[in-house]
Amino acid sequence: MPDLPWYSDGLRFECTQCGRCCSGAPGYVLFTSEEAERIAERLGVSVQEFLDRYTTHLKMPVSGRSRTFKEIESEHGNDCIFLDRATQPGKTLCAIHDLRPAQCRTFPFWPEHVESPRSWQRLSRECEGIERGPIVPLTQIRVQVEISQRDRARQ
Ligand code: SF4
Ligand code: SF4
Repeated sequence: MPDLPWYSDGLRFECTQCGRCCSGAPGYVLFTSEEAERIAERLGVSVQEFLDRYTTHLKMPVSGRSRTFKEIESEHGNDCIFLDRATQPGKTLCAIHDLRPAQCRTFPFWPEHVESPRSWQRLSRECEGIERGPIVPLTQIRVQVEISQRDRARQ
């Protein structure tokens, strides 16, 4: 029988739409060229316009990528340019939710977050959805971790 990870019984997680993972301290949201094309099409702009209007250069490349979504200063910190605080007062929405990059889609099931019970618990200081709501089963977590790993290997 293959070794099972420490979270073989699944992990409890439910997003509250607090928006902390899309704001706070300066960060980055990486995206692939395919993701950029899809978002640009949705926004009705060319890829170049999308890059100019919504993204900016990273000071240092991360996972081989040189651009990140722009951030806008708010009372909460540095909001991702696609963070929508207006539509649903008290909650946050992502303006490109169904097209958000793999980095966002796979959160919080990133390899470093599920590395150990401790790393998962540590994340609960930043994400109030940890240990809340229904259990996410092992199969789903594995898929997310694999997508995250593959995404980081792409350029
Ligand atoms: S920090 Fe966690 S609970 Fe808050 S919006 Fe992000 S994923 Fe959801
Ligand atoms: S693209 Fe959407 S989910 Fe990702 S950081 Fe920006 S607002 Fe959050």
